[in-house]
Amino acid sequence: MRLLLLFIFFLSGNSFSEEGVEVNKSRLLLLPASTVERSATQQYGQLLRTASERGLLNRDPAQLERLRRIARELIPYATRFNKGAEKWRWEVNLISSKTVNAFCMPGGKIAFFTGILEALQLTDDEVSTIMGHEIGHALLEHGRARMSEQLLKNIGVSAAAMMLNLGQVSTELLAQTANLAVSLPYARKQESDADLVGLELSARAGHDPRAAITVWQKMTRYAQGAGRGQPPQFLSTHPSNENRIREIEANLPKVLPLYRKAQ
Ligand SMILES: [Zn+2]
Repeated sequence: MRLLLLFIFFLSGNSFSEEGVEVNKSRLLLLPASTVERSATQQYGQLLRTASERGLLNRDPAQLERLRRIARELIPYATRFNKGAEKWRWEVNLISSKTVNAFCMPGGKIAFFTGILEALQLTDDEVSTIMGHEIGHALLEHGRARMSEQLLKNIGVSAAAMMLNLGQVSTELLAQTANLAVSLPYARKQESDADLVGLELSARAGHDPRAAITVWQKMTRYAQGAGRGQPPQFLSTHPSNENRIREIEANLPKVLPLYRKAQ
């Protein structure tokens, strides 16, 4: 147990910002941010190479430019939630695939699949909602927390601590851990915190945060309509339900003034 305490950095449950939303930072952060970001960059590079080899990378210049513009609008407010984001090398890419999904990996590596844009016919404000939510996961270091948890599960506390100390966590092990970190659902609290960050980033960037309601409604309708087909991947990691929408509605009064100011 002492070892655990030595190597796991417990951050106090601090919340942010004098105005806007309140969220908690991740607690279990065994892996250094730099290690996690390096691993994410490698995973992201691999994804882009695979997509590019298959002719599926950034084939729609208009949609790509739209995504990159919205990212440019949101990013200036990212450091409100994570000071380290100042040094992130943000990237936004679009992959041609029917997959209904989007993500932002640790360190600001964003990918959208054409499936999510087309299936849900997303408006700019709705893209901002989803992008802001995904950026929220990255800023609150949910991926880093999960990679840390996975590493502990896989190899145990003492081995993890020793390997980290010696700089011997293999890139392969990290890659496995990083893969799990984007393919498993987040905890409910992490989901609602990412929603809140998304609301605030959107509002500050001048995107209507009320789009968060329509986007989750669309997502739910789409999932129901998908019938016997595969449910959208995005929903398997981001369950949508009445509670989620109610909580978003309850937090709108905190961000609507920011939206009005930004307009
Ligand atoms: Zn999420």
